[in-house]
Amino acid sequence: MPDIIQLLPDNIANQIAAGEVIQRPASAVKELLENAVDAGATEINLMVNDAGKALIQVIDNGKGMSETDARMAFERHATSKIRNIEDLFKIKTMGFRGEALASIAAVAQVELKSRRAEDETGVFIEIENSLVIKQEPIAMQTGTSIAMKNLFFNVPARRNFLKSNAAELRHIVDEFIRVAMSFPEIFFSFTSNGQQVFHLEKGSMKQRIVQILGNSYAAKLVPVQEQTDYMNIYGFVGKPETAKKTRGDQYFFVNNRFIKSAYLNHAVMNAFNEMIAKDSFPMYTLFIDLDPAQLDINVHPTKQEIKFEDEKIVYAFVQSAIKHALAQFSISPTLDFELDASIQSLDAVSKPFTEDKKSSASSSSLYNTFTKKNQSHFVESKSELKHWRDFYEKDKTQPESFSQRPADEPQVTGAAFINTSNKPQTDKLFQIQNSFIIVQTEKGYYLVHQQNAHERILYERFALAVEGKPIATQQSLFPATIELHAADAVLLKELLSDMNHLGYQLEPFGNNTFVIQGTPADVSQGNEKTAIEKMLEQYKHFSSDLKYSKREKLLRSLALQQSVKAGTSLTDKEMKVLIEDLFNCAIPNSTANGKPTYLEFKKEELDKLFGR
Ligand code: ADP
Ligand code: MG
Repeated sequence: MPDIIQLLPDNIANQIAAGEVIQRPASAVKELLENAVDAGATEINLMVNDAGKALIQVIDNGKGMSETDARMAFERHATSKIRNIEDLFKIKTMGFRGEALASIAAVAQVELKSRRAEDETGVFIEIENSLVIKQEPIAMQTGTSIAMKNLFFNVPARRNFLKSNAAELRHIVDEFIRVAMSFPEIFFSFTSNGQQVFHLEKGSMKQRIVQILGNSYAAKLVPVQEQTDYMNIYGFVGKPETAKKTRGDQYFFVNNRFIKSAYLNHAVMNAFNEMIAKDSFPMYTLFIDLDPAQLDINVHPTKQEIKFEDEKIVYAFVQSAIKHALAQFSISPTLDFELDASIQSLDAVSKPFTEDKKSSASSSSLYNTFTKKNQSHFVESKSELKHWRDFYEKDKTQPESFSQRPADEPQVTGAAFINTSNKPQTDKLFQIQNSFIIVQTEKGYYLVHQQNAHERILYERFALAVEGKPIATQQSLFPATIELHAADAVLLKELLSDMNHLGYQLEPFGNNTFVIQGTPADVSQGNEKTAIEKMLEQYKHFSSDLKYSKREKLLRSLALQQSVKAGTSLTDKEMKVLIEDLFNCAIPNSTANGKPTYLEFKKEELDKLFGR
């Protein structure tokens, strides 16, 4: 028998390794931008076509490469940044693994141009499948340009895995911002399909934040600055009134490297504590500098997660630095009554559906009555009561209205759906706990959950509107503008035409700004911005759910967000409309997300309970 083990050819090994470093266009953008920063560039231009799928090009005026280095750079583990393992613990550069260019060369067609100041000519190299197919001298200015075309052209499985252009572009915007934010002394520009997305002049940190996140923060940034022997923190937090309903304007950098840390985010949120509504997110851009020996940046290949030697110290430090900053600028809740009042009203309006909320909802007594065994949510008998879904589905002896139908089943009209002998009687309605409505029927009563019911009604109304007759728009007399985080702006653009059908008339106004020309009649004037921010936040919560289309997510987000909340007192008229609308729905008995909208109680069963 022959021996069977072989070494993989370089290009295959590189392709495999590339999987870790280059998952999507945005990862390549990040690596190229970081290389330009490491090369000492003061000007960096990024260009992409088709969200990076067709072209990603970064041009810098950094120190350039010699002819030999330019070829070496594409070898795996080829780096000028570390020489031995000790160097790993004193890294000051963004890159160090020497894998980015090798990975890029394995999965795209690459053209490199580079010239050092001391060389008379530059070098041009063309690479495909990790092989140099052309090399020649060229005339050029000092610096480097790397263009990568047709990402994953040779790994179709990966190419197919890429998301829509809008989604990929959003990732690119995120990565661009993360690099541009931490180097305000560098000029950055970003062009997508020939259109300029960002043009960021050199300036102070504060100017950079405003350039990126928008003018609305201009006079509303509180400086954070604290220095110790162990670590420094500096940067800005937004004044409490700039807190948004949508997460996004939150950045942490450790030694200039963007990181994600739920732990440190918690420290900031804690410092803001009572100053902002519970469901809103303060803006922050914070830089922590500490001895690289105190961290391990190597824990994650794309380096977004880091390990601190002593996490607790960092947490306490961050929290107190921010408290201190807010106190210094006398932004303290006890002094600011006006703010407090507006917070309360915000809080009462509605809350976004966060993971926290989900778990608190699922531990609520109401939810438990639906899910706990042996707890009678249907007042029927003591016989084994099953999970309500099973109950709906299996018990064929129940009237038709009990059968749980998936929301995407063919539509039937409400009238046919409700057992005619058990029609809701809408002349006498009672609201209890400002959350439920009791509706008499011939045989007993329905206990309607007002928010779930409204969610169902809105969902069906919206679903009809996007298909056919659009929802009427109420024109704004004084159109407000809304300025979004760049990534959210990309998202909103994607949703504009559906939003239009749903009564939101929004027009892009450049610079991530939109003019709100009109809103659906039931969104009150002055609340347009909040409504849109909340919708986006809600949408992002659904975003990870791949089984739904964009439109479906939009419908569900809007329905959930616009529904009348539990705790809202309703007039008789409002209750009547709500109940009638509910039972005119195609599927009145559950929300699109599968929560029940009402429960039925029958007289004969009530009688039994009372021993009659
Ligand atoms: P790393 O950045 O981890 O060292 P890369 O594969 O990203 O690995 O780059 C390999 C090497 O190529 C770098 O160490 C650097 O010497 C050189 N290089 C890459 N991009 C540039 C650039 N824009 N300007 C100058 N040199 C560069
Ligand atoms: Mg690099």
